[in-house]
Amino acid sequence: MSRVYNFCSGPAALPEEVLLKAQGEMLDWHGTGVSVMEMSHRSDEFVSILRSAKERLSRLLNISDEYEILFAQGGASTLFSQIPANLMVGFDRSCYLDTGVWSVKAIKEAKKYGDVSIVASSKEDGYTYSPALKDWVIDESAAYLHITPNETIGGVEFVDLPETSLPIIADLSSTILSREIDVSKFGMIYAGAQKNVGPAGVVICIIRKDLLARSQSSLPTTWNFANLAANDSMINTPPTFAIYLADLVFEWLEKQGGVTAMEAVNIQKAELLYKTIDKSQFYSNPIHPDSRSRMNVPFVLVDKSLEKAFLMESESAGLKTLAGHRSVGGMRASIYNAMPLKGVQALVDFMLSFEKRYG
Ligand SMILES: *Cc1c(COP(=O)(O)O)cnc(C)c1O
Repeated sequence: MSRVYNFCSGPAALPEEVLLKAQGEMLDWHGTGVSVMEMSHRSDEFVSILRSAKERLSRLLNISDEYEILFAQGGASTLFSQIPANLMVGFDRSCYLDTGVWSVKAIKEAKKYGDVSIVASSKEDGYTYSPALKDWVIDESAAYLHITPNETIGGVEFVDLPETSLPIIADLSSTILSREIDVSKFGMIYAGAQKNVGPAGVVICIIRKDLLARSQSSLPTTWNFANLAANDSMINTPPTFAIYLADLVFEWLEKQGGVTAMEAVNIQKAELLYKTIDKSQFYSNPIHPDSRSRMNVPFVLVDKSLEKAFLMESESAGLKTLAGHRSVGGMRASIYNAMPLKGVQALVDFMLSFEKRYG
């Protein structure tokens, strides 16, 4: 068996140390004689895993007591509906920033619950940048402002937040824990785990407690954020194994030096790859340099006819899943926390050698 460098956008690579630890505990977790997968979610053992995951995440992101950490199910896509269902109550509209494929999907669901006011959009320019803050038009009477700070498919990322009275809700699926953020600036943060946190099946939600008052009892029981909070994310059986793996990833992150240390490596990785692309006449990336994602780096070969060869040869070289999203084509390297600098160096070496042979 040999492990490769996996550039998949999600479910994405996990730290090898975490997989090995899970392997070691697979049959007998901490002397219980059972796997985490075989434990009651109400058992003291599992409750301790859940608590550990929440405590570690709180430390990693410096989350204050004003916020509740929830483990939701149904993927980030279900949150696209749950957010307006819970938070648009008492309002007739919500505000959304439109920066690409994931924004569009979130907007589509929000429209089922009321009017959506688009604060700004880069659609006309093929979603190649994130609109400047000064161009955002925010309707202050809306329920909230929803943003997608990292567009996983387009490879567009931004960090600056607007001044607004609205709670800011951010889909951080592909960027959570990859860079420092100030949680106190947000009303709610959510992230499907399968990109930067753990296996698919759990969505991390960090929600300001006052917003829980908006959730109405008429909502489907398992969709109700207040209910989820009151039941410590266990209205019904939570994705126990995914939460356990997330806790192991949080533990690993703490050992690496936390988000600050991760961010420093992530900057190096992204710079190495973008520099290689920019220096060459052979590869290109369409995103405005100020809006480029550190986590998802799409690129194309200027000669498209070489794409197939690039993908085949990179795969043989142990560089896996470099094909772009089916909706956009080309290539995409997702370089989340679990991708070591060595992996990006291996990709860059391959790109240079491919260019030498075909350029
Ligand atoms: C992957 C992704 C989603 C969708 O996640 P699912 O868990 O598959 O529903 C939503 N938003 C962003 C930014 C993503 O990268």
